[in-house]
Amino acid sequence: MSQNNQPSRYDDSNIFAKMLNGDIPYHKVYEDDKTLAFMDIMPQAKGHVLVIPKQKAIDLADLEPEYAAAVLMTAKKVMQAQRQVFEREGIIQMQLNGSQAGQTVFHYHVHLIPSSIHELGRHAVTQADQGELADLAQQLAAVIAG
Ligand code: 5GP
Repeated sequence: MSQNNQPSRYDDSNIFAKMLNGDIPYHKVYEDDKTLAFMDIMPQAKGHVLVIPKQKAIDLADLEPEYAAAVLMTAKKVMQAQRQVFEREGIIQMQLNGSQAGQTVFHYHVHLIPSSIHELGRHAVTQADQGELADLAQQLAAVIAG
């Protein structure tokens, strides 16, 4: 570990690795062979989704091109579903590299947040209601599935 708990190498015990291993529960929005999308447990706005690659990457520096492409294509699907479900055009795509930038989970992920940069809630602070997250995940998943 270096400063601020940032690992120098990929740590298999990070929370998203545990999700990919099926060790902890999450509210799934979408999954394919290279990516997984699920509801953020401490959303910065209603409908905040995370997209992760099924690759052991800490941040953008480690991400392989095929996974970078796959994450973006999944992000696009999720964003389009968010636009439909939340009836708003504005969706923030955000991604933090390193603890100095505020990254707290060291498995690469893209945030998709139905909000405005001027209204964004605090980062990873308030836990959402699990029932509401399950309902939102179901709505988004249904739109993506068509
Ligand atoms: P980062 O700070 O690394 O960019 O973002 C990590 C995100 O993961 C935060 O938005 C935080 O709310 C979310 N998060 C942290 N722990 C969990 C968890 O156990 N489950 C889910 N679904 N999201 C989490």
